[in-house]
Amino acid sequence: MSDCIFCKIINKEIPSQTVYENEQIIVIKDIQPAAPVHLLVIPKRHIDNICDSKLFEAGTGISEAIIKGIQEVTQKLGLRENGFRVIVNYGKDAGEAVPHLHWHIVAGRQFGWPPG
Ligand code: 5GP
Ligand code: ZN
Repeated sequence: MSDCIFCKIINKEIPSQTVYENEQIIVIKDIQPAAPVHLLVIPKRHIDNICDSKLFEAGTGISEAIIKGIQEVTQKLGLRENGFRVIVNYGKDAGEAVPHLHWHIVAGRQFGWPPG
């Protein structure tokens, strides 16, 4: 989508700090980190959000690619020893700000539960 900030990052029209990339996903550092490690796992295909039916269209395998990306990155960056949290925000109560599906990975400090 031409006016989507994450599509622009994927197309390298705006810069980002990329930590991992393959055919289906990109993993970048969040510009406003909420933890010492704060990454965004973003499918390269524009999908509005986790409730978008395009996520499960036959043959795309995007959800699997996202989970695989989380496995790769948490291993590569050594996040498994102390732990990490994965978050997807949807809608106004969760404070979703960017309407292109993305999964947050946060790590590097203790997180409270339930979340604030
Ligand atoms: P949401 O609230 O939609 O789940 O999260 C959007 C996230 O995207 C926020 O944590 C915000 O800091 C991050 N973000 C917004 N614009 C940019 C950008 O241009 N570059 C990067 N790296 N992160 C961004
Ligand atoms: Zn997009």
